[in-house]
Amino acid sequence: MREVFDMIVVGSGPAGQKAAVQAAKVGKKVALIERSRDLGGSCVHHGTIPSKTLRENALRVRNMRMNAELAQFKLAEDLELATLINRLEEVLAEHDNYMRRQIERNQIELIHGRAQFMSEKVLQVIGVKNTRRELQAEHIILATGSTPRKPDNIPIDHENIFDSDSILSMLYLPKSLTVLGGGVIASEYASIFQALGVKVTMIDKYPQPLGFLDSDLTEHFVRAFESMGGVWKGNATVLSCEWNNVDAVVVTCDDGSEVRSEKLLCAAGRIANVGDLNIEAAGLQVNEQGLISVDENLKTDVENIFAAGDVIGPPSLASASMEQGRRASCNALGIQLGKMSNTIPSGIYSIPELSAVGLSETQARKKFGDILVGRANFDEIARGQISGIQNGMLKIICDAEGRKVLGVMIVGEGATELVHIGQMALLSNADVDIFVESIFNFPTLAEAYRVAALEIIGKRSQFSEAY
Ligand SMILES: Cc1cc2nc3c(=O)[nH]c(=O)nc-3n(C[C@H](O)[C@H](O)[C@H](O)COP(=O)(O)OP(=O)(O)OC[C@H]3O[C@@H](n4cnc5c(N)ncnc54)[C@H](O)[C@@H]3O)c2cc1C
Repeated sequence: MREVFDMIVVGSGPAGQKAAVQAAKVGKKVALIERSRDLGGSCVHHGTIPSKTLRENALRVRNMRMNAELAQFKLAEDLELATLINRLEEVLAEHDNYMRRQIERNQIELIHGRAQFMSEKVLQVIGVKNTRRELQAEHIILATGSTPRKPDNIPIDHENIFDSDSILSMLYLPKSLTVLGGGVIASEYASIFQALGVKVTMIDKYPQPLGFLDSDLTEHFVRAFESMGGVWKGNATVLSCEWNNVDAVVVTCDDGSEVRSEKLLCAAGRIANVGDLNIEAAGLQVNEQGLISVDENLKTDVENIFAAGDVIGPPSLASASMEQGRRASCNALGIQLGKMSNTIPSGIYSIPELSAVGLSETQARKKFGDILVGRANFDEIARGQISGIQNGMLKIICDAEGRKVLGVMIVGEGATELVHIGQMALLSNADVDIFVESIFNFPTLAEAYRVAALEIIGKRSQFSEAY
């Protein structure tokens, strides 16, 4: 028998969860379909939460090493990786509980199984024991997320050669690790493992990692990574990669060099989860990038089907996915929310952290020609000196008159929090003077905004005596 709902949401990651709750809050009968036993998607189980839990411990380890004169410190030999993410189970259980309570409270029907289209309004859910249920709804939201891309020449076996979904299943902290890729996930894991004392080599075809950031920030990241003992090998294409069946993964690059390590992480981007969905039955198809295309209202090419999160492509962040999910749900139900802001900050939880919002210096120069830029190094800031957080920099990008803030980029501890001050300035179309006229707590790293803003004001042609 076919069960009828007002809305069906496929996928319980950040996008699907918010979409389902939003529809239920306005009184709709909602079904949430999830193929995995656990709720929360890759954000909870393979991505954001696990990697950030490991990062917290890597920071502790690094800080203890830095304070070696206060206490003798050495990481145990053959340390089990599980010890380093010891709080993860607790964090995940708490999160799972919270989500299940929220789903129950909002009377959302949670159905475990693989969703597959039969037509644009009907989905079949195939359960573990091949049980089948047919669901129908006026509105359908696809929030099926993404999985790691597996290049043909990288034989990922999840034992010696891992992807970003399986890397934390390694039993022991290896002595050495090669990381293929120079994107966000590659940079985060490379610097986290290096901070834990693993000898990490990052290999990528581009000259610098994190190419969407300005080069002064990425140079800062590479310097910090190398000063911990890591090796950055840019401009290198991987020709082959194999486990030698004895003790090493061997990577051969196009310059003839060979890199050997105990384990390897392949972080070569992610692809949308659409394979299971039989989207053709709904009249949908993927675009050239293998993603589901949507318009500015998150509507697909089929009138009643909306999509949100990683399945529609960049920015591919949990933060953006949640808001897209909520908006897709409202738009599907005809609740007008207006256009979604594209002032989305990006946070890179590497060691050190990086974060950016608005235009980069490169983008702003390309778009406007003349611009003014102000910088503040954390070693000029009292809090940086006190806390020993001297390895950092904040940069404000401003229009040519030195008035309107166009973007903010930060490298250094606290970057992912600090960036929100710049985001608020951008969203409120503020003049850079706001950072000088406002009183900030002292001593704080936020003071870097003031120092960078003063540099811009100092460069204004009609420099005012007031400062
Ligand atoms: C290592 C790593 C670190 C990250 N760190 C951050 C970070 O610090 N900050 C940040 O903002 N973002 C981070 N991200 C990105 C973030 O995890 C994703 O952007 C986010 O999870 C996307 O949410 P989603 O709801 O679109 O998809 P997902 O979280 O992938 O959820 C999709 C769900 O759909 C289910 N599904 C798929 N197909 C079907 C089907 N046919 N039937 C039923 N269910 C199905 C899947 O099982 C899954 O549970 C990170 C990602 C990774 C990999």
